[in-house]
Amino acid sequence: MNILIFDSLSKKKKKFIPINKNNVRLYACGPTVYDYAHIGNARMAVVTDLLVRVLKTKFKNVTFVSNITDIDDKIIQASNELKISIKDLTSKFFKIYNDEMLSLNVNLPDIQPKATEYIKDMIIMIEKLIKNKCAYVEKNHVMFDVESYKHYGKLSRRSIQEQLDGARIEIGEYKRNARDFVLWKPSDDNQPGWISPWGRGRPGWHIECSAMSKKCLGTPFDIHCGGVDLTFPHHENEIAQSCSAIQPNAEPGKFCRYWFHNGFVTYNGEKMSKSLGNIKLVNDLLKKYDGETIRLCLISAQYRQPLNWTKDILEQSKTTLNRIYKNSKEIHNERYEFPLPLENEFFLEFLESLYDDLNTPKALGILSKLINLKKNKSNGNDIKLIQAINESLKLLGISKKAKPIKKIYSESIEMLIEERNKARKEKNFDKADEIREKLKSQKIEIEDTQEGTVWKKLD
Ligand SMILES: [Zn+2]
Repeated sequence: MNILIFDSLSKKKKKFIPINKNNVRLYACGPTVYDYAHIGNARMAVVTDLLVRVLKTKFKNVTFVSNITDIDDKIIQASNELKISIKDLTSKFFKIYNDEMLSLNVNLPDIQPKATEYIKDMIIMIEKLIKNKCAYVEKNHVMFDVESYKHYGKLSRRSIQEQLDGARIEIGEYKRNARDFVLWKPSDDNQPGWISPWGRGRPGWHIECSAMSKKCLGTPFDIHCGGVDLTFPHHENEIAQSCSAIQPNAEPGKFCRYWFHNGFVTYNGEKMSKSLGNIKLVNDLLKKYDGETIRLCLISAQYRQPLNWTKDILEQSKTTLNRIYKNSKEIHNERYEFPLPLENEFFLEFLESLYDDLNTPKALGILSKLINLKKNKSNGNDIKLIQAINESLKLLGISKKAKPIKKIYSESIEMLIEERNKARKEKNFDKADEIREKLKSQKIEIEDTQEGTVWKKLD
């Protein structure tokens, strides 16, 4: 059975063929951590988590990276307004974000790189872009020259005029063309900054995803995920940067193979926005509803469709879940482990619907059908049915029993690798070996390559 994924670049539903079937690699644009997450953020995390779960039914090893933006003008502004340091502010909301996602049964990404820990990699990439004549330096700014990349606009399918409508038009003293965007900008004494070849400054937002996906996954990788609102300009810019750093005008496929975009969440049919005061925070919802109920709402529509959040949707999901749990009491006492019961025709029908571009409405319909079948007394003890319902609940992440496990965060891995590299430089090989073993005990294998040390998960 093949997994089909709609690729937003080619606008086609395509059979998923990984670059390396022994390690499927995904990247998703994560949150900017200065405030509570809203349901739009949660939808991205939940559907991406579901995608990873579905991929894992077919491929043994899946590596999922999702970044944390911990330096940004909005963060600087919030830190000034709240009078707390940027570090304290971002650490607080990073932890809150992960805790909330765990409440929604989201398995945390394997790696959550923080932008501030990858500044060096961003500088290296920007230098490469300048060398390849795809970026220019002007008054301590480094700008990406959009005209240098002939594939620009392919993902969002926007014409140059439409791109201009979406961009800030003004051509500053450092900006040659309206469509060019910032890779690096100067910081004044009151702003956070890092030493760079272009003076003390900080990165633009887009470059972090290009630098971190390259460092944590390698390019090309398989699937790039994110909310549809990021298609332009963020993802368009990521493609331009990542590909131009390889070679001027490199094809978008040199960066990643599939673009997976989830749709908007609206509230009563309106776009959620601060000015309308209709933003729904996960934090508030979790006070009234459990995570499984919120998660079920978030997967009730197919991920590419807009999801209209209403007052009733949560109550409906609560009723649905109660019905499922009521009719599957003994199911939760049954524990089935992987491998999945692929000989089970009930479960296969369910799985097939998810393999079809995560068709969750169909999958939920099949689950409901299975529950009805089980309610029929003659099927009440059918082990295949019990097994199929149990596995379906676990795969959708709405089982009360199968909770996600907190993982070690990538930063500790990165720190250990840095420590090991330092030990090697000092020719302290005993210590270097000791750290390698320590990582191995955490099921992390490291490899020293020309590009530096890379790591991967072991099973
Ligand atoms: Zn991104």
